[in-house]
Order: sequence, then C-alpha cells, then structure tokens
Amino acid sequence: MQFINSMDLQMKKLKQSKKNNVNNIKKLSSRIKEATYENIFVDCPYCHKECIFNRVSDLHTIMPISGKDLKCEYCKNIFWALSDRATSAKYRWFLDDLPLLKRDKRYGLYIFALCQACETFMHQAIINKLIDTNPVYRDSEGYFCGKNKAGADAYNEIYEEFCNKKFNEIINNGSKDKTQYKKATFDKLRELFLHIFDDARKSKLPTLKKLKEDKGAKCFCVIEKTDINQTRNNIVHKDAYRPSFCDVQKYDELVSCLYWLGVYLDVKDNIFYLNKRINA
Ligand SMILES: [Zn+2]
Repeated sequence: MQFINSMDLQMKKLKQSKKNNVNNIKKLSSRIKEATYENIFVDCPYCHKECIFNRVSDLHTIMPISGKDLKCEYCKNIFWALSDRATSAKYRWFLDDLPLLKRDKRYGLYIFALCQACETFMHQAIINKLIDTNPVYRDSEGYFCGKNKAGADAYNEIYEEFCNKKFNEIINNGSKDKTQYKKATFDKLRELFLHIFDDARKSKLPTLKKLKEDKGAKCFCVIEKTDINQTRNNIVHKDAYRPSFCDVQKYDELVSCLYWLGVYLDVKDNIFYLNKRINA
C-alpha cells in the first residue's frame, strides 16, 4: 500500500533545493539525460562518465529533484544535477519509460512496465474518484477534510480504510463480492474500474475538449479486453516466457488508450487534488 508523504515535508524539501540552487551557481552542473521511474542517468561534468543514481537508495527521495548536489561515483567530484522529469501521476512514469525499454530491446521489462502502468492507472483513477475528488470529504468551501485539517494523516486514514473495504461495500448494488480492495488482482481491479467509470464510458465528460478525438468507446473496450496481465504472468512464472518484438507491438493500442484515458478521466497523483479546492 502506498501512502502520501507529508505535504509539509515536501514543501520544506522544495524550499531547501531552491536555496541550494542559489548557493551553487558557480559549481559545475549537468543536465539529467534520462530520468526513469527508478533511476536518473547523468554525465559527470568533470570526468564525463555516465553516473546512474537510484531514486530511493542514492537520491533518498521519490519526488522529482528540481536540482541536487551529487557525487560522481568515479572521480568523486560534486556536481549539481538538474532537469529531472516530473509527471502528473505514477502510471505516467511507467508509460514514459516504455520507449527506452523498447529501444534497448528489453521486451520482458516492457511488458512488466506496461502492466504496471495499467494497474496503477486503474487504481489511481478509482482513488481520484472515490476519495480525492469525492464531495463527501470536502467542506462547504471545497477544502479536503476542512480547511487547515487536510494533513497527510487524515488522508492516509481515509485511504487505508478504503483499501480494507470489500467490493460489496464499495459497489453497493447488492453484490456479494467479498474481495478486499487491497488484495484485488488485475482482473478484479479492472472489473471495479469499469463499474465505477461506466457513466464516463457512456456519456461525454467536459475533459473531452482537451482531446483531439473522441476515442472513449474504443479505449474502454481496449482496457476491457486486454490480456496484458496474462502475458505478464507468462513471463513471471515458471515457464519464463520470452516476449518478442511482435508481443510488444501488439500492445501499442493499449499504450495510446492509457494516455487518452488519463486525460479524459483527469487521473493525477492524490497530492494534486488535495492541494486544490474543489467546489461541489
Ligand atoms: Zn566524475
């Protein structure tokens, strides 16, 4: 399960990195050349070797770094790394990593990343709708849990409670499904996603204006029918299936549908909605 970090902490870090930026104007700096969900790749401006920094182990933050002092793992000089990639939601990281994996012909990892994109997308969309933008949790002025109360603790409590709920408690239509949300497999998550967004599928949301074409009918259908989870399982389990370029290409439509639906359903990280007033 994932909880949001303390919002205060994130603000503090942002301020700190801005301060560092001012103090380090004369230090050699280097632009991050590739930024993925896990790592950043940056050439050392002193010895010109490529350094790889893991976000969790080396950078000690999962937030995009607006700039950071890093020590070259070869020549040990300290340089300022800048221009990290930032995305509006976690699923976007997995989608945006796909072209690199395809370029490097890492088709197995490509399938994993795409399946993860799909699962994190459905999960985030559900959480956005049932928690983040749910009027139940907004006060009369549109603040989450009431003005000055919207701390990470309040959010995490609501989030955890939701993850412990069973499907029949979430759906409320006489369903007898006792699957717990946090234990939902890909198929179960998809079932809930399609149920919750049935209205969005049948009608046209205002966000359609932001999109070039109306691909709603097709995109929901692609999600409904995709076997990406089966392919992922074939690779993970004992037969260790080795996917080919054709296996990967087969999912091009799924990739574009996830990008399209992300805009249509306005799927974003929780923090984006929590920092915003939403008036019912
Ligand atoms: Zn170096």
